Amino acid sequence: MNQTLENFLNDVEKKNPNQPEFLQAVSEAAEHIFPYIENNKKYQNQTLLERLVEPERIIIFRVAWTDDAGAIRVNRGYRVQMNSAIGPYKGGLRFHPTVNLSILKFLAFEQVLKNSLTTLALGGAKGGSDFDPKGKSDAEIMRFCQKFMTELAKHIGAQTDIPAGDIGVGNREIGYLFGQYKKLQNNFTGVLTGKDIAYGGSLIRPEATGYGTIYFVEHMLQEQNKSIEAKKICISGSGNVAQYAAEKAIEYGAKVITLSDSSGYIYDQDGIDTEKLNFVKELKNGKRGRIKTYVEEYPNATYHANKAPWREKCEVALPCATENELDASHAKALVKNGCLAIGEGANMPCTKDAVDILQNAKILYGIGKAANAGGVAVSGLEMSQNAMGVSWTAEKVNQELKTIMKKIHEACVGYGTLENGEIDYIKGANIAGFKKVADAMLAQGAV
Ligand code: NDP
Repeated sequence: MNQTLENFLNDVEKKNPNQPEFLQAVSEAAEHIFPYIENNKKYQNQTLLERLVEPERIIIFRVAWTDDAGAIRVNRGYRVQMNSAIGPYKGGLRFHPTVNLSILKFLAFEQVLKNSLTTLALGGAKGGSDFDPKGKSDAEIMRFCQKFMTELAKHIGAQTDIPAGDIGVGNREIGYLFGQYKKLQNNFTGVLTGKDIAYGGSLIRPEATGYGTIYFVEHMLQEQNKSIEAKKICISGSGNVAQYAAEKAIEYGAKVITLSDSSGYIYDQDGIDTEKLNFVKELKNGKRGRIKTYVEEYPNATYHANKAPWREKCEVALPCATENELDASHAKALVKNGCLAIGEGANMPCTKDAVDILQNAKILYGIGKAANAGGVAVSGLEMSQNAMGVSWTAEKVNQELKTIMKKIHEACVGYGTLENGEIDYIKGANIAGFKKVADAMLAQGAV
């Protein structure tokens, strides 16, 4: 490691103690951005990277709410407004017991570079709460969302900061959050994305992250004259991203053999077809059930408690659950089993050691900030539709999404092609994402 890069990372660590996920995300990006700055006079001596890792603003607040038994519960709410150089803050809200400042700062940092890659004018942010939606009644979810928004509403706005969903925040939660914002501000505005189509949502927004991941993986494979068709695919997660990655993969003729949740994974040797996927959607979105129920409905499949799916033989692996879910031992198993490509539907799902193993084995590595940027891209399109007061057709939005994913892939190839002709998607995504933000920061001066 270059000595100065090491100093930079040491300083970040000193300033942000006990934030391992944030440091992991910064160090992965800095590894490529730091030398890029050193080799480009325009970016030198501007403290750009130091500014980039310092959030513009962090809001932390108490959320006190009443459960169905009448007891008062307390959770912590956050919004990390990371960088607004190229547009208003934009990024999801996560409700999960593991949420803390380190996780939200890593997600917000990733979001800055990801949003830049989409070619849209979107700054980066992330927020959420350590609230656990599991096992809560609808009424409890609504009351929590209303209390959360009562504080958050002071800090967001259609031209300031436009949150969306993430883990634990889907269509239902966005509805309650939007309702409370509107009530407080007396203003019907596109302040959140991922809204239902009935009140300003965009067609294809629910599908966008998963579909976009498949479009990206297909571009990576096509670069090597291959295709996703007929490939065996392991997917983790069974939430929003996993469901629609599976849907598009099936449509492209691939064979999806696994899905999971935080309790374990199911393996279906016959492949998960559209009918089986519809069962999963109903199970997870409607009944809010567990993935193990799949094997009761389809007894040919097997359930593996407390395990991740990465030891199953596949040609494409799509981690679509959460950060650091795929470790070095999983990566070794994927390499041994002849995996060709990884598409990160989730944010930073591979540990640093896993990434090194996959890259050394020359597996195509579709990094999350590029591969899963389709969600925020269509959120950007939802904002445009809201601003114009129009609603585009699914075909139009899907076509825009395809175009954006193609451009993101081209940007990765443009900045990530090595002298030997191989493409380093990590390098490409980080530098392409950085460049636009850096140019805007230079133009706007030290603010
Ligand atoms: P959902 O809440 O819809 O689904 C999350 C899925 O991941 C669930 O199946 C959940 O299982 C599983 N999961 C969560 N935590 C863990 C864990 N610790 N170990 C194993 N499985 C786990 O979230 P999304 O699908 O929206 O998000 C998934 C990932 O994609 C996240 O990394 C998110 O940041 C990223 N992402 C999402 C975007 C979006 O548009 N929604 C956009 C870009 C990235 P269980 O039900 O047991 O909790």
